[in-house]
Amino acid sequence: MLDLVIRGGEVVTPQGVGKWDVAVQGERIVSVGLPDERVEAGRIIDATGKVVVPGGIEPHTHLAHFVSMHPEENLHTLGPEEDTRGMVFGGTTTHVDFCFVRPGLDIAAAIESRAARWKGNSYADYSFHVALQGQLPIKLFDQMPDAIAAGFPSFKVFTVDVLPPHPKRHPYRLDFGRIKLAMEQVAKHGGIMAVHAEDHDLVQFMYEKFREEKQTDGWLLPDVHSKLSELLAFHRTIQLAAHTGAGVYFVHTSAREGVEAVAAARARGLPIYAETLHHYACFNAEDYRTPRGFCYHTYPSLKFPDDQAALWDGIVRDGISTMATDEFPTTLELKLRGQDLENVTGGNLGAEARVGITWSEGVVKRGMSLPRFAEVTSTNAARILGLYPKKGVLAPGSDADIVLIDPAIAKTLRREDFHVSDYSPWEGWTVRGWPVTTILRGKVMVENGRLLGATSDGKLVARKISPEVLRRPSC
Ligand SMILES: [Zn+2]
Repeated sequence: MLDLVIRGGEVVTPQGVGKWDVAVQGERIVSVGLPDERVEAGRIIDATGKVVVPGGIEPHTHLAHFVSMHPEENLHTLGPEEDTRGMVFGGTTTHVDFCFVRPGLDIAAAIESRAARWKGNSYADYSFHVALQGQLPIKLFDQMPDAIAAGFPSFKVFTVDVLPPHPKRHPYRLDFGRIKLAMEQVAKHGGIMAVHAEDHDLVQFMYEKFREEKQTDGWLLPDVHSKLSELLAFHRTIQLAAHTGAGVYFVHTSAREGVEAVAAARARGLPIYAETLHHYACFNAEDYRTPRGFCYHTYPSLKFPDDQAALWDGIVRDGISTMATDEFPTTLELKLRGQDLENVTGGNLGAEARVGITWSEGVVKRGMSLPRFAEVTSTNAARILGLYPKKGVLAPGSDADIVLIDPAIAKTLRREDFHVSDYSPWEGWTVRGWPVTTILRGKVMVENGRLLGATSDGKLVARKISPEVLRRPSC
């Protein structure tokens, strides 16, 4: 007898969309096929009227992370035990966070300490990008193949120091020599680069200039973290990737210039992928001037309506592969504490809303197809980061990570709709359709507004990227 059958819903698979039964045994899906009333199961979930999609994959979170915008205070973002509760309420079953490797640390030790922090403390499954920062010893890059073999094949680098220098702030930037070395390693050993690409010189020059002019207003952020900066850094990174043969995943693409640079590279057959954030797609620089405007901020910065149009075009049609959050959960007070150019708190609180907002804004408002919705919220992140086909697809053999969306829901989001902090940037936003049931490896985590899972349910997932993803743009 089967453990669980989800019946009567509109099921979204790579082969198409249909009214199929999704059958689950233990932690896996065993079949997706025509309904059969004779089948017996421990539990049958009636999904009539719902849309059944693969569990969301959030490719970009910073949980239990040092808040470098206020370096004197030794503050951290909320941890996995708090943030992943929101994820499962919002239809996300897996997330990828970061382990930061700075001079003096080994890659394996950095992974081990992050994995220990997460163990038993996450409602959702998880993995980590390895983030390489600062003047790392050249020898350290020899450790990259071991990390890839151990199931951590994505390496985050910054081409920029995102904030002005401060004695208590770690430098973020990796110089282009070291980025080239990292690219050579991933190209050879089956890894991928995750790049925060901005032009270091332009960004730091603008901080200096505004400081000298005594202009400090936070809403000048788009002049510091500018469209031109994204243009230059995306092109420079792509040239280096083409030269070394590395695949690149551009995190938080924010401007039309970034979208176009990625499109041009993909047209040449290069394995280049873009992520954007629902915050970048839904808000723009004008929003900084509203009372809670810095709620919507993350670095680089919000851009302009024309950029939002390019991002939506890339998400709905092609060219942007993933919708992410750049999750950085704090209290409202901490999020709004910095109001000037040099200390606005970056990062978003939106992992819980990501799947629902993409549904409402993408599928309902912009006519995004259901398979495309599954791709940008789940399947593509799984492919690019090496979770596929264990994650990211409703297919026999895959983990039974399943989400039911109720398209009939129409509501204005309120604070009570969220489960992480004392605020959500999405309060007051009107939506149609929202996730209602979340299943992680066969276990119902959230149903009818009730949390049924525990922080002991989330597990570390080993990743391995398909060679096809690294050979050409394949999603
Ligand atoms: Zn980030």
